[in-house]
Amino acid sequence: MRIILLGAPGAGKGTVAKLLTAFDGSVQISTGDILRGAVKAGTPLGKEAKGYMDSGGLVPDSLIMGIMEQRLQEKDCQGGFLLDGFPRTIPQADELGKLLAKLNIKLDLVANIDVPRDVILDRLTTRRTCSNTSCQEIYNVKSNPPAPGDKCKKCGSPTIQRADETVEAISKRLDVYNEKTAPLIGYYDKKGLLLTIKETSSDGVVNAIKNGIAAKK
Ligand code: AMP
Repeated sequence: MRIILLGAPGAGKGTVAKLLTAFDGSVQISTGDILRGAVKAGTPLGKEAKGYMDSGGLVPDSLIMGIMEQRLQEKDCQGGFLLDGFPRTIPQADELGKLLAKLNIKLDLVANIDVPRDVILDRLTTRRTCSNTSCQEIYNVKSNPPAPGDKCKKCGSPTIQRADETVEAISKRLDVYNEKTAPLIGYYDKKGLLLTIKETSSDGVVNAIKNGIAAKK
């Protein structure tokens, strides 16, 4: 499948993307994960992105498009991809449209995961992420806690609260989402690609996406 996962931070895009990759082998492409990997590795991209990310703002479109132009042409994308956290602005969506046309790729669907703000705030402040960049398993201190000592159950690395998951940074990220990313809902609706999903469980979202794709075929 070739889909975009749209939704506020904490809507569950990453979890849903992981479940969908297990379903049909499409790859998850998370610009947030790519950027966090670059920050950790101390690359020039990471150094430039870090300040924007820690404050909850968006990284400039030009940096993101440089990453995505390369990533979408890698071989593993030929079997399908799930875009998680990209595009995030109208200019990114315009550029993505041009890139996909050039590569002769058609999107199946844009899934808009619509979760109430109070659910999102609760989820993000209780979220913990594995600090190992090649694992990045996600936990929740209430519903899915890490192993004793706050260790990752999968790889044993420490789990952490991300710098952008403090209450201040989360409020900023939600404001940025409403201002810069939410306009993409209307943008993709006009193109006939949008499916809005109001489920709060990840399995419910996954099923809605599978059904949405089947209905388009
Ligand atoms: P995420 O894990 O998707 O919430 O991304 C974490 C942070 O990375 C965001 O708050 C932004 O600072 C940055 N980021 C990720 N994807 C993008 C994007 N498509 N455009 C701009 N900034 C991004």
